[in-house]
Amino acid sequence: MTVSTTVTVRVPAKVNLQLAVGPRREDGFHALVNVFHAVSLFDEVTVKEAPPRQEPGFVTLSASGGTRVDLDGVPLDATNLAARAAVLLAEETGKGSPVEIHLDKRIPVAGGMAGGSADAAATLVACDRLWGCGLPETDLADLAARLGSDVPFPLLGRTAVGTGRGEILEPLAAPGRYRWVFALSSRGLSTARVFAEYDRLRPDAPAPLPSPAMREALAAGGAAALGAVLTNDLERAALSLRPDVAGVLAAGREAGAIGALVSGSGPTCAFLVGDEDDAATPGVEAAVVRAVEAAGVDSCVSAGSGDVPGATVV
Ligand code: ATP
Repeated sequence: MTVSTTVTVRVPAKVNLQLAVGPRREDGFHALVNVFHAVSLFDEVTVKEAPPRQEPGFVTLSASGGTRVDLDGVPLDATNLAARAAVLLAEETGKGSPVEIHLDKRIPVAGGMAGGSADAAATLVACDRLWGCGLPETDLADLAARLGSDVPFPLLGRTAVGTGRGEILEPLAAPGRYRWVFALSSRGLSTARVFAEYDRLRPDAPAPLPSPAMREALAAGGAAALGAVLTNDLERAALSLRPDVAGVLAAGREAGAIGALVSGSGPTCAFLVGDEDDAATPGVEAAVVRAVEAAGVDSCVSAGSGDVPGATVV
């Protein structure tokens, strides 16, 4: 048997189709209902056995990225979520050996698309393969949840609803195939700051509830139905910290987007522009890109969604 000394895993970004946020819990987390949806915007994580006697440390990190990605915002030390994932897997299995991790990033940094969480999920899958741990998916999901609330979803991909602090996942039936435009900002927003602003604006936030209308729209497929039920409780808080983003949302809506919302904690804006197989969709997509670029966003990226799998060895 050939033992591979390098493993590459491709992992998708997510957009939240519903993000309902409750009050802050005693453990500091918020109760969430979070409908995650994987989109075809990918990071690639490559793990490689480190040469013998390499010093210092267990993990060495490097990163490259698309022109739209702010690599300065990616820590290349033990705080990187990918490094933390490798260390956690090694501790739990006792099978780890020193690794070099390379992150090839296309997912915006601090953009509300869970890029760091995606890299952590990909690293779990890659190191599990490299070290021959063979952990069952449920064990990988448990480790993922210990790393962060958004880390289990990129293991699964496609569409799922997260409850608890977002980490308890149930896959959702969602046969639709959609097209999206994402308006990126070169300045990120700290997720912690957005939640703190949410607490300030909504001290009376009710317990978050799953949306039956969202479930029905997803099961039916069709962008028009989905566009009507997109919601994000964090949007007001993100706009309070970044008022410029409101103009971007308005421009995309006016240009014909079927749905528009801040993605997660922002500042990325997500525009649903149509069904993948609808002949009208490319025209709407182009119009939305033109309009949001004119509204001053730093760059746009288009992506599909609906059948995008989670972290996959390539
Ligand atoms: P979420 O949607 O989960 O709130 P996000 O998409 O807004 O996350 P990330 O790109 O995951 O934000 O990065 C948030 C912060 O995490 C960054 O500013 C950076 O300091 C840190 N970070 C740690 N590991 C990574 C990583 N692998 N890639 C990017 N950022 C990372």
